[in-house]
Amino acid sequence: MVLEETARYASDLGPRFRGRVIAPDAAAYDRARRVHNEAVDRHPALIVRPTDADDVAVAVAHAQEWGLPLVVRAGGHSMGGHSTGDGVLLLDLSSMHDVEIDPVEGTAWADAGVLAGEYTNATQAHGFVTPFGDTGSVGVAGITLGGGVGWLVRKHGMSIDSLLAVEIVTADGRRRIASAVEDPDLFWAVRGAGANFGVVTRLQFRLHPLGDVLAGDILLPATRDVLRNLVPVLLAAPDELTAMPTIMLAPEDPAIPDALRGRPVVYLSVVWSGPPDAGERALAPLRALGTPMSDTIAAKPYPDLFPAGDPDDGQKWAISSRALFIDTLDDAMIGVIERRLTEPGAPHAVVQLRVLGGAMARVPRDATAFGWRDRHALLWLITPDKDLARAAANEAWTAAFRAELPADRPATYLNFMGDEGADAVRDAYPASSYARLRELKGRYDPDNVFRANHNIRPA
Ligand SMILES: Cc1cc2nc3c(=O)[nH]c(=O)nc-3n(C[C@H](O)[C@H](O)[C@H](O)COP(=O)(O)OP(=O)(O)OC[C@H]3O[C@@H](n4cnc5c(N)ncnc54)[C@H](O)[C@@H]3O)c2cc1C
Repeated sequence: MVLEETARYASDLGPRFRGRVIAPDAAAYDRARRVHNEAVDRHPALIVRPTDADDVAVAVAHAQEWGLPLVVRAGGHSMGGHSTGDGVLLLDLSSMHDVEIDPVEGTAWADAGVLAGEYTNATQAHGFVTPFGDTGSVGVAGITLGGGVGWLVRKHGMSIDSLLAVEIVTADGRRRIASAVEDPDLFWAVRGAGANFGVVTRLQFRLHPLGDVLAGDILLPATRDVLRNLVPVLLAAPDELTAMPTIMLAPEDPAIPDALRGRPVVYLSVVWSGPPDAGERALAPLRALGTPMSDTIAAKPYPDLFPAGDPDDGQKWAISSRALFIDTLDDAMIGVIERRLTEPGAPHAVVQLRVLGGAMARVPRDATAFGWRDRHALLWLITPDKDLARAAANEAWTAAFRAELPADRPATYLNFMGDEGADAVRDAYPASSYARLRELKGRYDPDNVFRANHNIRPA
């Protein structure tokens, strides 16, 4: 019966759609339905891979004609499992992956199925970059539509700060360009809440020149002094230095003395994107935070940080994830982190800090839908586990850990959220931005066709 239904959806779509259609009985279906977070195991009614924006418009109309919930996927890394679903029409953009570079203008158009690693390799061939996150297999569309905090966030801002325009198919089937001059309200909304407003089919980015970087990890014991000083020391660094300290229980690492086994340590991962000699000077205060147990910082090409493709392919994890913007890592927070990471039976979680400021903080708060630009750091709790049977318990544990972290001004980051519900989505925006988003959602998607995301309900 289900297959009969699917066959009818597919045959109705067939003549109008030029891309690939993958039905549940196709050999490719099982691979095609899977997403990065293995805890999310769903069965779409039909998977379609469009070739261009016209195909996307056909699929958007088709889903509405048949009353099928529509799900959009770019790189498939949504931690809340938003890019798949049971019984849905899954619009998988992975067949659209051209990058068109204009080195003279210093801009590039990327199709929505391009991955961050693919894009970075393509633009670095011309000596340019656009800031994405820290992982090559994440989709440029997904990361950008939620903001984009990565290795160049202090030097060049978030991914949305380099976004010049998008081509987008809205719920009414119209293909539009949104930029600072065309449809500026829509352009404001896609920079931080993009998945709610349509299917973005192409993104135009500004390119920044970049040669080799200094990158690697300084391994430090997680003493109270080290932890307290991370945010102020990293905030005071030049914009060319972005750091992501990760606090975790000491792994098998020959650099770690026996006395620290089972205790928290800090992998202080850094990228310096300025001149190498100035980099050594800028790194000195970081190396003085404690007594480093190892230091792997070395010059390397930037794309080395973004291997193209999916390095975890075939070896994926169930992931629970929570986020919180903070101003300081105070003793109350440090106490919760120490206790949670070391409590008996705790899953193997990591706490990553991304220290912000720099170019990200210089953009006015209301310039984009994302608005938490004054916050000093982003705290990311991640509990990855290869044992899928522990996924539900890990999710509850991660949520409880997050709830214990004191937050005077609760603010979360869309891209690092799990599937946490409407109230949590509200905390992803300042109140005035959230109200404006609801109003714009009412204008561009009144029936909430695009709801498989961190959803904003139409006003
Ligand atoms: C290993 C890992 C590392 C990460 N590192 C970073 C990081 O360094 N910095 C950071 O900011 N984030 C990071 N993230 C989070 C990541 O940015 C988000 O999960 C992002 O949404 C993933 O984008 P995607 O295209 O891969 O995912 P998808 O699951 O395909 O999409 C995510 C959401 O966006 C929607 N969407 C995707 N494409 C479109 C489109 N073209 N039009 C409309 N809606 C669309 C989907 O429907 C879904 O709701 C990381 C995630 C993982 C798993």
